[in-house]
Amino acid sequence: AAKAAGKGRYHFYQSHLSDSLVLRINREQALRLAIERDEFVLHYQPRVDTATGRLSSMEALVRWMHPERGLVPPLEFIPIAEDTGLILTLGRLVIEKSCAQLAQWKAQGLPVVPVSINVSALQFNEGNVREILAACMDEHGIDPSLIGVELTESCMAGDDEKVSGELDGLRSLGVKLLVDDFGTGYSSLSQLQRLNVDVLKVDRAFTVTLDHGEEGKALFKAIVSMADALDICIVAEGVETAEQLSVLQALDCDEVQGHFVSKPVPEGEMAALMLKRFLFPPAARQPAAMPI
Ligand code: C2E
Ligand code: MG
Ligand code: MG
Ligand code: MG
Repeated sequence: AAKAAGKGRYHFYQSHLSDSLVLRINREQALRLAIERDEFVLHYQPRVDTATGRLSSMEALVRWMHPERGLVPPLEFIPIAEDTGLILTLGRLVIEKSCAQLAQWKAQGLPVVPVSINVSALQFNEGNVREILAACMDEHGIDPSLIGVELTESCMAGDDEKVSGELDGLRSLGVKLLVDDFGTGYSSLSQLQRLNVDVLKVDRAFTVTLDHGEEGKALFKAIVSMADALDICIVAEGVETAEQLSVLQALDCDEVQGHFVSKPVPEGEMAALMLKRFLFPPAARQPAAMPI
């Protein structure tokens, strides 16, 4: 009986394995087809000056316009794209679309606002990002200072010399370097200074703590003052409430991004925001007089 049960388990395990393999292949096929059919679009989320609410930049965020499922968020397909290597093709598409969009806005006479583009670790290591960026900026006549590259701390891990070589290569194009989701990985501020990054985006997990008493504020304050000393611009991600904003104003955090200002929006809505320029309601513009 024991033997039979063991055998049964073995069969179950085997079919479970092949099921997940089938699922994986299906997802990969679906993603490959979506790339061929050009079903990906970019939405844009504003980043604003903390004191004034003035639009300073925006982030390009990819979405899959699925013919049946509608708008699919990146967390449902970026991991698959990374597992299968399709992120290299998808990443190239995102760079191309971002540059084309900037050129279109410029042609429409809209205010010039920089765009930052997310680059995942595999893409950073193997994706010829430097060459692709150079070619796309050239094709669309984009001023490199208008492009930012958002890298997570996992890109900065590993061989220091290789990483700084890659980053120098990007920087030599004239683009800005941003560290995304700061605080979730293991990079130190001194390492970031050595790597010469321009902007630090502090992960939403830290912004959320600003609503919960003094500890979160103290931690954020320490990050802001160190970034300030290193001359790195600091952005709080995921700002959702007026309370979080006023704490960040009191802490002199340079910029904010989050639903309180605007969710990511399609290109047409982003154009409207570009014309508006100041995205806070006037009441939120005064730096809060609060003791920290
Ligand atoms: P991320 O780069 O950290 O982007 C910020 C994410 O936080 C976005 O999610 C944005 O919609 C969300 N967010 C912004 N403000 C708030 C807020 O106030 N509250 C909450 N709860 N969320 C907020 P999204 O668009 O779903 O993207 C998720 C992640 O997918 C991104 O995180 C990024 O890691 C990845 N991603 C998106 N687009 C691309 C891309 O083109 N290439 C690559 N490699 N990754 C991408
Ligand atoms: Mg990002
Ligand atoms: Mg982020
Ligand atoms: Mg984040």
